[in-house]
Amino acid sequence: MSFKSLQPKSNGFEEHNKSYFTAFNNDISPSAIACPESADQVAQLVREAAQSNSKIGIRGAGNTPWKGAANIDNGLVIDMRNLTGVTLNADKTTVSIGAGERWGNVYETLAPEGLATIGGGLSYFSGRRGFVCDAVTNFEVVLASGEIVNANKTTNQDLFAALKGGSNNFGVVTKIDFPTFPQDKLWGGMTVHPGTSYPDAVRALHSFATSPTPDPDAHVLLSTGWAERVGGELTVLSTFHASHSTVEPGPESLSKFTAIEPRLNASLRQASLVEFTTEQSSYSVDGGRNLYFTTTIKPDIDILLAIQELFRTAVEPIKGAKELAYSVVLQPFTTHMLKKSAEAGQNALGIATDDGPYVNVLLNPAWSEEKDDEQIVQMSLDLLEAINKAAEATGKAVQYRFLNYSHGSQKVIESYGKDSGKFLRGVSAKYDPNGFFQKNVPGGFKLGLP
Ligand SMILES: Cc1cc2nc3c(=O)[nH]c(=O)nc-3n(C[C@H](O)[C@H](O)[C@H](O)COP(=O)(O)OP(=O)(O)OC[C@H]3O[C@@H](n4cnc5c(N)ncnc54)[C@H](O)[C@@H]3O)c2cc1C
Repeated sequence: MSFKSLQPKSNGFEEHNKSYFTAFNNDISPSAIACPESADQVAQLVREAAQSNSKIGIRGAGNTPWKGAANIDNGLVIDMRNLTGVTLNADKTTVSIGAGERWGNVYETLAPEGLATIGGGLSYFSGRRGFVCDAVTNFEVVLASGEIVNANKTTNQDLFAALKGGSNNFGVVTKIDFPTFPQDKLWGGMTVHPGTSYPDAVRALHSFATSPTPDPDAHVLLSTGWAERVGGELTVLSTFHASHSTVEPGPESLSKFTAIEPRLNASLRQASLVEFTTEQSSYSVDGGRNLYFTTTIKPDIDILLAIQELFRTAVEPIKGAKELAYSVVLQPFTTHMLKKSAEAGQNALGIATDDGPYVNVLLNPAWSEEKDDEQIVQMSLDLLEAINKAAEATGKAVQYRFLNYSHGSQKVIESYGKDSGKFLRGVSAKYDPNGFFQKNVPGGFKLGLP
């Protein structure tokens, strides 16, 4: 069976190309979009591109915000969204997921079985199970030669480790296997507080992140920021617990968060994974101007408190940007999460799992007019630098950058460290000796080969 291939003037091309998460990618003009439906068809496309020395972009959901991560000017986009399929194995312990699937559909397929899988990059289940890439048990991947191979703990082990965090540098992933686990309703939701609640929320986050016995089922995001729509600052807490069984009282490990007053709004409840995921995705609007920038620090209370003041100063000159909504989000990597990551075996991340806990800092501006792009990007990079300087001054800086939240200008693979960089370049030389995924796939975070 042949697959859909769209040229710039053909029906559906514009609709396909304007369906990225941000305007930055919708504005790119590829020369064609191919929508393969099987690994064989992906292999055919890769073989042809390698033979003709053509440039390609590989697109999943297209959610990475920065320009050109998964789209390409004057090149072929391999749009993976038709590689669907969520298949449980016979004893229901493993789910195989087509690379074009959405997590919502995966959760909906598993829910009637009373099962779930980890999902996302940092997920509700990361505390118990580590980074999502650590949970993968098999990648099916198309190499630059067009060969379709599996990578797992016993076959192509080096490729398996490299794909866990190494992004699009080694092949086109067509299918991923994850273990399943029993999952009932989760406890959680959002509480919204005034900006002045930030210090209380940060103290709760610091205590949670640095607990010598972190609750592995608890998951926390703390956001502060400024929004034109609100006309000021808010502090927003998203707290979840994977196994707590009553709405009131909430989980003991999250009690410092639930005690924070005043509350402007709250949605704490018990709900299914599908319901929480649907709610979360309802907050995001596609096709706007929206970017992520990230850093990682150690959970130092003074720096975490200072982030609000640094943000307040930085945001002042850009407050005139139309429809500005700027969030600064703190997310702990607890010692338990890092321990689980280490136990899962080698990955690409190079993160020092025995030196945690850490806090991931995500800067997420959203705005509506192109004329403000440059100023907002510069302000965000300057704010990152200010946070990093404050962390460096007290020995609390961490080299690792979380890829999902990184801006295209950030050196993510370098942040994995020299050893990991060397390992990843070796895996590239072995499985992609002509450097196809380095030279012909310019989007994404590259290995920096000469
Ligand atoms: C509203 C919103 C909320 C989010 N919340 C979270 C969160 O809670 N936790 C979290 O960790 N992350 C979160 N993210 C980030 C999100 O996880 C990433 O944006 C997402 O995982 C990227 O996947 P994608 O399929 O959209 O990839 P794309 O953006 O399509 O591609 C990303 C990169 O991967 C490459 N690629 C894509 N598919 C393949 C493939 N099959 N084979 C090889 N390379 C490929 C592309 O070439 C590109 O370089 C959020 C993003 C959004 C928009």
